[in-house]
This record gives sequence, structure tokens and C-alpha cells, in this order.
Amino acid sequence: SCADESKACAGVFVMWEVVQRTLNGSQFYTYSICNVEEREQDNWLRTTFIQRHPLASRVFVELKFIVRDCNSFDGASLICKETFNLYTSESDADVGTTFRKSQFKKVATIAPDEITGKNEMHINTETRVVDGLSRKGFYLAFQDIGACIALLSVRVFYKTCPGTVQNLATFPETVAGAENQPLTEVSGVCVDNAASEELPRIYCTEEGKWAVQVGQCQCKPGYEEVKDTCQECRPGSFKAEASSDACEPCPANTDTLEHGAVLCACKDGFFRAPTDPSTGPCSGPPSAPRDLSAVPQPSVGRLILSWTPPEDTGGRNDITYSVECQRCDGVVCHPCGERVRYEPASMKLTEARVSVSELEAHLNYTFIVEAHSGVSQLAGERGLYESTYYFIYFFLYPLNPPQITTMRLVGRTSTSLALSWDVSPRPRPQLNIRYKLTYHKKDDNLDKTTYTVLTLDKNSAQIKDLAPGTAYLFRVQALVSLVSCRCVRLTLFSLPGNPSQNYTVLLVAAVLVAMMLIVVSAVLFFRRRKRNSHTRQGPEDTYFSTPEQLKPLKTYVDPHTYEDPNVAVLKFATEIHPSHITKQKVIGAGEFGEVYRGILKAPGRKEVAVAIKTLKPGYTEKQRQDFLSEASIMGQFSHQNIIRLEGVVTKFKHAMIVTEYMENGALDRYLRDHDGEISSFQLVGMLRGIAAGMKYLSDMSYVHRDLAARNILVNNNMECKVSDFGLSRVLEDDPEGTYTTSGGKIPIRWTAPEAIAYRKFTSASDVWSFGIVMWEVMAFGERPYWDMSNHEVMKAINEAFRLPAPMDCPSAVYQLMLQCWLQDRAKRPRFGDIVSLLDKLLRSPESLKTIADFDPRVSIRLPSTSGSDGSPFRSVSEWLESIKMSQYSENFTCAGIVTMEQVLQMKTEDIKNIGVRLPGHLKRIAYSILGLKDQTSTLSVFAV
Ligand code: AMP
Repeated sequence: SCADESKACAGVFVMWEVVQRTLNGSQFYTYSICNVEEREQDNWLRTTFIQRHPLASRVFVELKFIVRDCNSFDGASLICKETFNLYTSESDADVGTTFRKSQFKKVATIAPDEITGKNEMHINTETRVVDGLSRKGFYLAFQDIGACIALLSVRVFYKTCPGTVQNLATFPETVAGAENQPLTEVSGVCVDNAASEELPRIYCTEEGKWAVQVGQCQCKPGYEEVKDTCQECRPGSFKAEASSDACEPCPANTDTLEHGAVLCACKDGFFRAPTDPSTGPCSGPPSAPRDLSAVPQPSVGRLILSWTPPEDTGGRNDITYSVECQRCDGVVCHPCGERVRYEPASMKLTEARVSVSELEAHLNYTFIVEAHSGVSQLAGERGLYESTYYFIYFFLYPLNPPQITTMRLVGRTSTSLALSWDVSPRPRPQLNIRYKLTYHKKDDNLDKTTYTVLTLDKNSAQIKDLAPGTAYLFRVQALVSLVSCRCVRLTLFSLPGNPSQNYTVLLVAAVLVAMMLIVVSAVLFFRRRKRNSHTRQGPEDTYFSTPEQLKPLKTYVDPHTYEDPNVAVLKFATEIHPSHITKQKVIGAGEFGEVYRGILKAPGRKEVAVAIKTLKPGYTEKQRQDFLSEASIMGQFSHQNIIRLEGVVTKFKHAMIVTEYMENGALDRYLRDHDGEISSFQLVGMLRGIAAGMKYLSDMSYVHRDLAARNILVNNNMECKVSDFGLSRVLEDDPEGTYTTSGGKIPIRWTAPEAIAYRKFTSASDVWSFGIVMWEVMAFGERPYWDMSNHEVMKAINEAFRLPAPMDCPSAVYQLMLQCWLQDRAKRPRFGDIVSLLDKLLRSPESLKTIADFDPRVSIRLPSTSGSDGSPFRSVSEWLESIKMSQYSENFTCAGIVTMEQVLQMKTEDIKNIGVRLPGHLKRIAYSILGLKDQTSTLSVFAV
């Protein structure tokens, strides 16, 4: 016992004994005391000096102990205790065995949860906290105040939060629970190759647990998180920003071979537009627009160009198009200038379509359509941009021209190239196709370019003497004798630098051709501007001032109203000096004399091809006046579809009328010569031109009276112009003119019934004639009512019969003919209506696909089994002659088809095989055979 605290108590340990015990079969030592029978117990047991961790201000003391139940002692229970006390004392040094009770502070009274009785033993474990420690070390002491205790173990410890890596931040081991501070804030450090905007922090709880991290570390660009570390992105992947994301595979058309890539570079030939994200895919320039086509809208003077978007957009969706117009004269092209208008625009088009207006007829236009995207410029800057140029040659009514579809390099040395090309559709033999091959060095300045031109019969060529290492631009054009086809393909081939190098061919562009159609009046306005510097026309005489004002302001003046017809001529026609006229060749015979082709070269003006009508010698003054009256009439007109008067020679002995030259001559002959070769669309386009000319005449109150295909002239561009305006022409000039009972000569087949009956010639009777012209055109110059007599024709008309639809005639066109042939002239359409309707049909070519019912027996007027005299055909040639197909006689003979029986066995395929290729001819012969087989049919009725 050592209760006196004034002196050191040496006996303090005496009462606590070290006792060896056996528990559950194992032996261990305890500090025990059991003075339960004596009062006033105060027995102390103190530990040795315990060094304190400098950061551990709070320590835990875990005690294992046994306390005997006081009731298990007989008689001692009254003073017996069942608790003991825990004390502590801080010190900066070990004080050895010196013990002063007063220096100790009580920490807790320790009571057992279970007390130990006589027969069983209960070990209790209690933990107490000793807080607020600050000195270098401390002692613990246990005070017994009269209990029976065995202290099995004392464990003194403090708690830490273990060193850790959390969210890519490293935090050190941290002692938990500072004074009055249940949470200890700990700063961390980002792992290698990770960074954080905010210092990473975490809290260590009293219990030694980490909680609530602040400030996130993320792997730097080029690194991704792998198990608490940041690893480099593998080749082929990248990471652009510090983030917790993984590395991504390189986007389309990019790659990287490096580890730890921050970005992927564009592969060769691919680019990023300035606005493209650096992390996005790269894209290539778009390929060329495809299938460029052009549709004329003649009524509004427009051409609609449309195309299919590039096959390869280069992976972009910002494709725009630009359209450039060039006028090509031979091989040299110039910009079309500002006059050509584009709707909506010529650049930055987002739709694959543009409307081009203010174009002129007769000129070759080239439209270059390029596709662009955000990377075109970059690609171009590096010389990689491939642009495709589409060439369209714009002209009037071409016949389905062959196109050059591909151009190939088939052989090459350092100084020569062998090329070949394909044509589609395969040209018919009679087209006599040739090719014009033009080439020049690609890099030559346009002004200085030397072109070499070769004309070839076959679709291949070997070009020699080229400069090594040079790129040449080749252009091949299909020349077709029948039409002035413009079929061009441009291709660039380069030559190897030296013979040993094996270059691949760099190819720029290609393409094509489209045939273009435009109806003449669409360009009326431009022609009018160019022309009409006629001296006879003062400003007040100008018929048009804007395209909208198409209506003439003047009416036609009958030259007869002039007392002196010579005055009329001089008012309406320009006098030409005969020395300015060169006659070249007789091209026809007019009523008054020969018609020549020639040249007019007026001072200060360009040479023009002209037709020169002459007045044969020995004429009377009356004849001279009649002759010149045509010029007086023609001179009053100015329209695209009316033959233009260049001038007259009146002041010299040989009077002449000089008009524009129409290369293809009279329409009826032209159609017969091209039977089956012209599409319905083109035929309707021609009719539209004639109708426009007639509308002009009717607006001027001029009645033609002799409108027929033979009086329509056709020029090189298949433009049709109304001609033949003499005052006496119907009477004298027209071989079709027939004297009628009402007097005068009338071309019966072309003339409206009221004009035949009582000479009621009006624009409505011209409309009837126009209907006949329509029929002539759609039947390729067939004679109206064939070989019926005039009398039969008049009878049929009076009995309400009308011509049947020609073969392959669009239904809408035939319906219009029938309208023109209405008995009641007031009900016939006017020329204005006709022009509008034809325009409508041309605008939607689909509308021409429905074909009018056709009866071969009546339309071709084939006698059923017999010749014209009613007897059967005696020979194949007689039959062919009757259907105007004599040109194939030889084909039949060569094929051994010499009897009509053999003819009757022929199928369409057989007809083709013997060399009848033109669809129109093929049909005609096939239909004829059909008719021959039909024994019962006769040709007596036309449909109404
Ligand atoms: P005409 O008697 O005035 O109709 O002329 C007779 C023939 O000459 C016509 O059938 C045409 O073949 C030809 N002809 C007349 N005028 C022209 C012209 N401007 N251009 C070409 N050929 C013409």
C-alpha cells in the first residue's frame, strides 16, 4: 500500500503481483491484486515510460482484464470493489522508478462487463482514449481500490490513415485525430503525368479512415489512367486533353505512330479545314460532280443545269458548288462575262442545281461545275485538288450526239503517249464520225499555248515527239458530219521524267458532254439586241424594248397602200451595193429567178452568209414590183423565227433580195432527209419556233396564207424560220396552189375550209395550216393526205375526217393538231396559246412520252396486199418504193429476200439484221409488213 503521496512510494508494486496463469490451455502472466478483505486500499501499478509519436496527441489504451465477483468471497463482499482506475501522467523524460501519485491524472474508472465467479473466468476488454498529449512521452497507471483484478494485457496505440493513391493523387500516411479535430485535412500529390487544377486534398477521420477527396487529378494529354497510374496512349490512339477519359482511336483519315500522342495527324491527301476540330477526322477534297445535265426552259429564256453530288464527298458535309461559264471558240475559251445570270448564284451553291439565263443561241458554252468543301483550298494549295470540268456545248436542236465517255492511256515512252477513247452511243455508220484531238502542254500560259490538232478516223492515237517529264492536256472531240456535235473529253496525262522511272498517271479531270437544246425564242431578246442596226429602223420603230414587251408595237403595212412600191421597198429595206454581194452557188429556183448562196460584206460589218434571190432578165415592171414586194414585207419583220432581210438591190439592173442564209434549206426536204433521226422533243422544239414566228406575224396582223413545211427554212442550228412572203406568191409561186371555184390559187391541203370556200384568210386559217405543218413535221415530211386528190381531201374534211396521228406522235401534239383543225375557226387555238402549250410540253419532256394511237395502214397509207393499182406487189423493190424505202432494195437483195412471200416471213429482228438501223425506217418497214399480212384492212377512213 502506498497511499501517501508526499513521499515516493516504494511499495507500490508489492501489492500487484505477477501471477502465472493457464487459460484455455495456454500459459500467460498477469498483474494481479486481490485485497478484498481490507479497507482503504490504494494500490498502484505504473507502466514504464512510453515514447509518444510526435503527431499522436491521442492514444488508445486497450485493457484486457478479469475482475472477480465480490459475492464469490465469503464475508468480504461489503468492502470488496469490482472496478479499478486508469491514470496517466505526461513527461518529457523517463523518470525511472520515481513515482508521484499527484502527477497522475485520472482517465477513467474501468468496470468489467462481466465479472468472474468461482467457476468460470471472463476476460474483459475495454479501450479508453487518452487525449491531448503533447510531451515526449507518458506513463499509464492503474489504481486498485480493493478489487480482485488480473490485468492480462495493456495495448497502447494511436490510429493512422494509411498512405494511399486515390483518384490519381498520392496521400501520405497520416495520424488520425488531432486535438479537437475529428477530421485531419491532408494534401496530396498527383501521380506522374497527371495534373490537377486544384491541390488534391483529403480528410483523415478520427477512426483512421480517408474521407471526402477534393481536387481531382487527371492524366495529362497523351496519357490515360491504368490502375492508379497514367500510361502513354498507344500508337494509333490519342488523347487531346487532361481528362479521366481513355485514349481514343485516331479518327477517320488520321494516324499516329508515336506513343503518347496528343493529336493524330492527317494521312496523306487528307486535311482539316480551319474550322474543323483538331481532334476530328480529316477529310479529302470532294470528287467531281457527276451526271451534269442541262434542261432548257425556253419560255423564260433559261437553262437549268443540274448534277449529281460527288460520289466521294471526302467525308464532309459542307459541299458547295461553283459554276463557271466559258464561251469556247475552237480550243480557246473565254469567260462568258457578267451578262450571264445565275440563280441563285454561281458560287457557294448548296443545291446541285443552278439556273442560267441571258445566254445567246448559236454559241458554244462550256459550263465548269466544281465541287468544293472546307478542305478544297488546302488540297489545292498542295496541288492535290482534282477538279472535274464538265463541258456542255450549247446549241440548237442537236441530234443525240455521241459522247466521248472515257479516255485512256494505253502506252507510253518518255516522248510519246498512246491514247484511246470510247464513244457512246455507238455512232451509226452513216454519221461518219471523226475525232479531233487537240493537245498542249499543261503548264503553258493560255495566251502562249501552242495547240496541236489532229483529225483522226479511229478512236485511238499515238502522239510522238513530246517533251519528257511534261504534263499534256488532251482534248478529244467527236465530229459528226450530220450535226455539229460537240463532244469533248479533256484528260491530262503526264510523261515520265526519264524512261527508267515508272510514274503513275496523274489524271485531272474528265468529262463529258451533254447535248443542249434550246428553243429559239428563249434567246430572242439577245439576238434582237445584236441585230437590228438596220438603217431603216429609227428608235421609234424598235419593236421591243424589254423582253417582257414582246408584243410588236406596229402592225404590218401592206406595200400596196403605197402608191409607188419602190418607195415602200426603200422604207422597209436597206439598199445594198451589188459589189458587196458575192454569189457562190445556185441553191434553188424561185418564181422570179435563181436563188443563190453567197456572201454579203457590207462596209464596216462582218462577212455574213446570205441567200440571194434574183429577178431573171426580161421582167416587166409589174413583175419587178411583185418581186420586190416580198422584201417590203419581210423588211417589216424582226423576229428570231422569221427569215431576216439583209437588204435589197433595186438601184441596179439586176434586182436582188438578200436574206440570211439557212443552211439546211426547206423544212419538208430536211425532214424527209432525216426521217426517224430526230427525236420528238426536237421536232416539238422546231414547231415551237414556227409557232413563235407565226404568233409574231399574227400579232402584227399579217396573214401568211401559205404556211407549209416547204415555206419554212431551217438553219444550221435546226432553228426554223417562216419565209415566203410575196404578195402574189400564193397565186403564182406555190406549186401546191390550185385554182378554186371561188377564184384564186389555194394550196388546198394546207388551207382551212373557210378560206377555200369563201377566201376567208385570217390568222385562224393560218392556225389550220400550222396544224398541217405540225403533221408534216411529226411525219418527217410526209405529204398531207398522201396521194388523195384535192377533191378527195376537201370532201373528207367536209365530212369531218381529219388526218390520223403520224407514227410515234406524242398524244398531246396530235390533240393540238386536231384543235387547229376545228371547223369553227373561232374555236381554234391562237398562236399565243400554241406557243404556250408547246413550251409546256418542252419543259416537261415526260409529257411527250404518251404516244397517240397509230394505225399503220392509214398513217403510212399502205395498200394492204397490193400496189397502187390494186394488184399485188410484183416485186420487193416495187413494195419498197411504195413505202418510200427504196434505199434498202440492195439490202434486201443481198440478204436473199427477193420475193414478197419471203418479205412476209420477216420479223423486226430480221429487218434489223439486213441493215435497217434507223428506228423510223425499221418501224415503217415492220408496220408495212404488218399491213401486208392484214388481208382485210383497207385504207378508207381516218379517225376524227
Ligand atoms: P423561194 O422560192 O423564195 O421559196 O426559194 C426557193 C428555194 O431556195 C427554197 O425552197 C430554198 O431551198 C432556197 N432558199 C430560199 N431562201 C433561202 C435561204 N434564205 N437560205 C437557204 N435557202 C433558201
